[in-house]
Amino acid sequence: MKYIFVTGGVVSSLGKGLAGASLGTLLEHRGVRVNMMKLDPYLNVDPGTMNPFQHGEVYVLTDGAETDLDLGHYERFTKCVLSRANNITSGQVYESVLAKERRGDYLGKTVQVIPHVTEEIKSRIRKLAQEQPADVIIAEIGGTTGDIEGLPFLEAIRQFILEVGSQNAIIMHVTLVPFIKAAGELKTKPTQQSIAKLREIGLQPQVLVCRTERPLDKEVREKLSMFCNVPVEAVIEARDVDHTIYELPLMLQAEHLDDIVCKHLGLAVPPAEMASWKKYVQRVVSPKKRVKIAVVGKYIELQDAYKSIYESLTHAAAAHDCGIDLVLVDAEELEKQGPEKLLTGVAGIVVPGGFGDRGIEGKIVAAGFARTEKVPYLGLCLGMQIATIEFARNVCGLERANSTEFDRETPHPVINLLEDQREVTNKGASMRLGLWPTKISEGTHAHQVYGALQVVERHRHRYEFNMKYREMLTSRGFVISGTSPDETLVELIELRDHPWFLACQFHPEFQSKPNRPHPLFKGFLGASLAHES
Ligand code: GLN
Repeated sequence: MKYIFVTGGVVSSLGKGLAGASLGTLLEHRGVRVNMMKLDPYLNVDPGTMNPFQHGEVYVLTDGAETDLDLGHYERFTKCVLSRANNITSGQVYESVLAKERRGDYLGKTVQVIPHVTEEIKSRIRKLAQEQPADVIIAEIGGTTGDIEGLPFLEAIRQFILEVGSQNAIIMHVTLVPFIKAAGELKTKPTQQSIAKLREIGLQPQVLVCRTERPLDKEVREKLSMFCNVPVEAVIEARDVDHTIYELPLMLQAEHLDDIVCKHLGLAVPPAEMASWKKYVQRVVSPKKRVKIAVVGKYIELQDAYKSIYESLTHAAAAHDCGIDLVLVDAEELEKQGPEKLLTGVAGIVVPGGFGDRGIEGKIVAAGFARTEKVPYLGLCLGMQIATIEFARNVCGLERANSTEFDRETPHPVINLLEDQREVTNKGASMRLGLWPTKISEGTHAHQVYGALQVVERHRHRYEFNMKYREMLTSRGFVISGTSPDETLVELIELRDHPWFLACQFHPEFQSKPNRPHPLFKGFLGASLAHES
């Protein structure tokens, strides 16, 4: 097994996750079996309890693990299907070290960061290597070099490389080379300093991936090479991509990143054949037409909060050879200003998942507009619950119908807590999570879109459709097109008298890939294009 550790220098948000994922793409296209993992230094056990403002989207895996959004990049860029073991946090590491201490596993010893915490980190990397077959593990360390909380991870990696041998491991440092306008120059000093920090703890990167707005000329490359003790050919330029993140593997390939990594790790593999990837990028970069899609949410000012949804829309658009003009609509503004002002002219409306009552009424307005104006609607998790509330109120006349999440006293709880959620008080990892099967009814839109009668999708929710209202709603044109196999939980709904109004209790956005768009997103965009013309 070979290991690639990805560290970050100078500032956060450099796209370490994307750089690691892109290297994964290139290696896979050379026939290397890749596995990916993320080591996050924060003390939360998982990001499931964090606000999207703090952390962006929570990405859900098939086994129900709530993880960092970088795992979404890993799954979209590679063939990996990740699991709980692929995202380690300091919280998990300390939780298990402390449990061992209480059990008496370290009896007589003083429990310390070195060796106990570092050993726990190493053992988790080893375990992944043993349990999930691959040729290479790409492991990204969250945060920035110099962060106090990242130190145990870096120390663990130093020890780990000593154990596996330096010929079997490589450190790829992703850094910023800023352009200073006043001087008209690219500056290498911040990178030098972050490398110095790594060296202080005994780590020497073999590859530098330099995020930069301007091309790195020969002089800058030589300077970085000399000061950072990295061969000049291993100074890799990673400029901001022009159109899509899927260009990044191609850019890094042009800089020979994968050649350098393969050479260092002794991987004798043919060059990466990227023709179909290039074709995909080409379709994203120069689409034949464009379509306006509204996403109505409460975190729309935050690029990362609905990451997988935006990605899924892009994948689906490429399949229709069209580009997307995203109209990001703040749900609270929609409530204030009304749908005519903010939604007129859009070809399709997406209402994403969410928690808490802020923006709910605005989302209900969006669902109502989609229903009455016959605009294609795609509701995701909360977006399905919203569509249900809207229909109950405005078609069935159930005044103040709501989810008990937003109105505990509602006379018509059309959405209420899952039975097994009633006793749950802990907030961490306590929802209905991960992969669950859905049985689809024949002859429905969902059946047509999926072309299947049984699908499995990823979930993350506490509330569900209240079956007591089944008859009342369905007698008015509300269609329950997918349920759990035992028919107790509603998984998919649609509207009978509407060209395309589909909503699901799950999150299809976690199962879409560039060359394999999710059927729901693909169907939604097809309908949006039809609506526009
Ligand atoms: N808040 C809703 C629930 O818990 C929806 C969750 C979501 O959209 N992920 O059921």
